[in-house]
Amino acid sequence: MLIDSHCHIDGDSFDEDRDEVVQRAKDTGVAAMLVVGTGDPHSDDFRKAVVVAERYENVYGSVGVHPHDAKLYDDEAEKHLTELTKSEKVIAWGEIGLDFYTITARATCSAKFSGDRFARRLNSIFRSSSTVEMRMMRPLRF
Ligand SMILES: [Zn+2]
Repeated sequence: MLIDSHCHIDGDSFDEDRDEVVQRAKDTGVAAMLVVGTGDPHSDDFRKAVVVAERYENVYGSVGVHPHDAKLYDDEAEKHLTELTKSEKVIAWGEIGLDFYTITARATCSAKFSGDRFARRLNSIFRSSSTVEMRMMRPLRF
């Protein structure tokens, strides 16, 4: 069984042929796809990944703030992402690992500094036992 664990078919470049792309993947043996929503957490960038996941039976979603954008992560961003995780099709936090492929030394330092806040938030969520916060628990996808 093949699973595409990280794709961005929510992008505008797939608007014309997304149905065909998903069908071709299915036809060639891809049992499931994880569309990873990312972008500015204050914008509606993530919502399209959730909409795409909800549209196709074999597509699931994740949301998360890329380390390059860690400085954008604040209470408002957390509230926005939390709201999106209420969809049953959002099954993971995604795009949140350190990107050693493109990240520069300077960005690494910046992302680590800002990412510490994000990591502390995640840690507090995982340690929480409240029902609402437990609903937010999702696997981490990097
Ligand atoms: Zn990605």
